Amino acid sequence: MANNSTRSSKTKVIHAGFLLADPDIQPKSEQSILIEGERIKAVSDGFIDAPPGGELVDLRKKFVLPDLIDCHVHLTAQLDQGYRLRTVEDSDPKVAFNAAHNAAVTLAAGFTTVRDVGARNPDVVFALRAAIAERKVAGPRILCVGAVLSPTGGHGQIYGLRHDVCACVQSTSGICDGVDECRRAVRRQVSHGADAIKFVATGGVLSNIKAGLDQQFTDDEICSIIETAHRLGRRVAAHAHGAAGINAALEAGVDSIEHGSFLDARSLELFIAKGAFHVPTIIAGVTVLEMAQADDLLTPAQIEKAMIVGVKIKEALARSHKAGVTIAFGTDMGVGPHGQNAREFGFMVEAGMRSREAIKAATVNAAKLLDLSDEVGTIASGKSADVIAVDSSPLDDVSVLQRVAFVMARGDVYLGVS
Ligand SMILES: [Zn+2]
Repeated sequence: MANNSTRSSKTKVIHAGFLLADPDIQPKSEQSILIEGERIKAVSDGFIDAPPGGELVDLRKKFVLPDLIDCHVHLTAQLDQGYRLRTVEDSDPKVAFNAAHNAAVTLAAGFTTVRDVGARNPDVVFALRAAIAERKVAGPRILCVGAVLSPTGGHGQIYGLRHDVCACVQSTSGICDGVDECRRAVRRQVSHGADAIKFVATGGVLSNIKAGLDQQFTDDEICSIIETAHRLGRRVAAHAHGAAGINAALEAGVDSIEHGSFLDARSLELFIAKGAFHVPTIIAGVTVLEMAQADDLLTPAQIEKAMIVGVKIKEALARSHKAGVTIAFGTDMGVGPHGQNAREFGFMVEAGMRSREAIKAATVNAAKLLDLSDEVGTIASGKSADVIAVDSSPLDDVSVLQRVAFVMARGDVYLGVS
């Protein structure tokens, strides 16, 4: 990986053998992308010369496409054999270095933008977001939510440790009960620097508590969260498995449902009527199911929920996609291993999406959900120079996206030709 502590402001020209500039239009052969600083200046037919002093990036044997975007990651987390102990062992600086490593492998996998949807220590993610933006650390552009909003006893809390230990390993700034506290908790996240708001509309698999997988906040609390966030110009993501929680969040105008495992016919109507996105995170369901069956890594409370969600989550995408719901790409990495984000494409295709639709979910649609359509999602004049390349067409076989050969983020080359 290149050391990008100093940024090259040289003009660059990429020669692309094939270019999928926008997943909605056919790829074109022999294209040139002119880049000045961190912006795309022009896209043109044929191979143009680099201007004097400029740099030529030869991708004539590659298939070039826009940066990939993951709308659901947890850069500070990694579920594995040691994670429960690490919760109490690791200092925030240790968590921060791990998160920087996770950000670097995510970028090298072709994901130049991610939305981090929750950390025990939100300041770590805010600091990482800044360090990457300032080019002190290699990683994707990060949008973050601060602390996840959860009711007391809800999915956003840590369980199974002494109460006083729980209190020291977890930020409590997202715990809120009642309409007023919910409003205040949203405002608090925004004041801390949150780009978006995430709340737990239902229980979840990995909270170590037998509290089911359905609605946790009341309808009033959900409305308060979403209305307050929207007033402050923030998009809202709802973690949701059970149908009652999914539907309450959709009724209240949530922007995206994350997971959506038990969505029902009413959910599908609401998705369409409200224009909300579904972020399916199939790989997270597959991962927890594997862990529940093979390891002694999960607790009994977690295993019970993993067995239910793991078998449902792909079917949820099959249903929402068939109904015409807009899908945005997300993996919940931190559950699965960081850097393997592109495995999700294979599951999306298994759920009935065409390769092109899955790529659109991770580019155009994800950019729309994150309110970043002016910056990323397609390769076009004026946008951030975030460009990746693979050895063959992902439209024929989407699994090639698991072997990205070239990554440029904001005009800098991080992987491949430099
Ligand atoms: Zn998650």
